[in-house]
Amino acid sequence: MPVEAATVWNDCLHIIKASVDEQSFNTWFKPITPLRNQGEVLTIQVPSQFFYEWLEEHYVPVLKKAVHQVLGTNGRLEYSVIVDSGNHNNPPVLVNYPNGNGFKKSNAQAVNTNGHDQYSPFSFKALNPQTVNSRLNPNYSFDNFVEGDCNRLARSAGVAVAKKPGTTSFNPLMLYGGVGVGKTHLVQAIGNEIKKNLPSKIVLYVDQNDFTSQFLNALQNHKMQEFQNFYLQVDLLILDDVQFLAGREKTQEIFFHIFNQLHQSGKQIIMTSDCPPRDLKGFQERLLSRFKWGLTADLQEPDFETKLAIIHNKMQSDGIEIPTEVAEYLAFSVDTNLRDMEGVLNSLLFHATLLKKEIDLELAKEVLKNIVKEIQADVSVDFIQKTVGDYFKVDLEAMKSKVKKREIVIPRQTAMYFCKRYTQLTLALIGENFGGRDHSTVIHALESVEDMMKTDANFKNSVEELTKKFKSRISA
Ligand code: ADP
Ligand code: MG
Repeated sequence: MPVEAATVWNDCLHIIKASVDEQSFNTWFKPITPLRNQGEVLTIQVPSQFFYEWLEEHYVPVLKKAVHQVLGTNGRLEYSVIVDSGNHNNPPVLVNYPNGNGFKKSNAQAVNTNGHDQYSPFSFKALNPQTVNSRLNPNYSFDNFVEGDCNRLARSAGVAVAKKPGTTSFNPLMLYGGVGVGKTHLVQAIGNEIKKNLPSKIVLYVDQNDFTSQFLNALQNHKMQEFQNFYLQVDLLILDDVQFLAGREKTQEIFFHIFNQLHQSGKQIIMTSDCPPRDLKGFQERLLSRFKWGLTADLQEPDFETKLAIIHNKMQSDGIEIPTEVAEYLAFSVDTNLRDMEGVLNSLLFHATLLKKEIDLELAKEVLKNIVKEIQADVSVDFIQKTVGDYFKVDLEAMKSKVKKREIVIPRQTAMYFCKRYTQLTLALIGENFGGRDHSTVIHALESVEDMMKTDANFKNSVEELTKKFKSRISA
């Protein structure tokens, strides 16, 4: 290292030190190595592209001031950036950038000086895909992620990304939806699939909590380089529950840089959030606009049929057969979210395997006591059909007939819905009571009623009035 460059840089450091706080100084200026001082150009080596961008964005005035004071007003600064393509056959190279006026990489002229300078040993610790801790839960896979209308788009985007991470237009892939709709399960399934099929890829799952605390930790311990070097080597970065980064300016800042770097080098980014990007509050606009670059897909609350499949799937994988009426009862009654459903199923498994109890409706009701708002009480099918029929002015015969007119179909579906809600009958038995229909017709009825309640206020009102009638009957 030319002595002169070292002296010049040392003088600059004195000036810089007076202008920035100690932590920033240690993080962003101490790791810089002066390389040469030729003409009035001082070249400094920075450990990564990320580092360079950070300096350009945050410290241009400070750097300019220092260089001008030490080298005169014609003094200029040039960066030599260690760039790593992630390809082990192509070791990191140095790329030079002049000191610009801000964060505009396109303004900087990249000069590849491959062959001139050696790669600096402090910059890089290559991760081994085999030993890196991906923080994935191996129990989450595509196989046990049940497909339904509620998640079809998100799931198929996930499958596509898992096949070709970083090379589809689904980058970033942003999945959003409420609590317990399967976001974490799905993104972890993608991670597991990539690890299995593409073992040379480095996969990393973090929730925003991990990310934020790692970042703060790195900042406090002057390990920013290690922190970002680590993240920049990842091939698939999964950031779960990104909404919690709201208002965390510094964390967003660092994520923005990591995001850009990974995206530019064709690495895959997957994020989840509890709402669509446009509704995220407390985020920098430029970060939000990045979120929209790829594909945004939502996951909805699962419908009855999907819930039923999830229940069977889970119980089977634990080696338990669950009677149809119990599965249907759960699918219908647990109307909060799938996380609650998981709690209920685990509790049933516990009773069945450890306490050797038989899984029946009684046990299911017992377990559900604290979760569902309403436990079934016995009302007869006849009573339901008559009450609903009277309400909509449809006679019993029409209710059981094959007539497909809307004014008959809606009361019939509504009556089926109340049968599921207030009787203990299976779907198949309910279908039989409505002119010998099969269980899938009943499923369809339940789903139609739930959909209509969401979209049609009048209809919702009718269902609420009918509910009152049944409730008064039950408590009488
Ligand atoms: P989120 O992250 O959206 O809050 P999770 O991924 O934690 O939801 O899902 C909650 C529970 O429901 C988990 O046990 C998960 O395995 C299960 N689950 C959600 N969706 C499905 C699905 N489509 N198939 C199977 N299990 C699912
Ligand atoms: Mg989650």
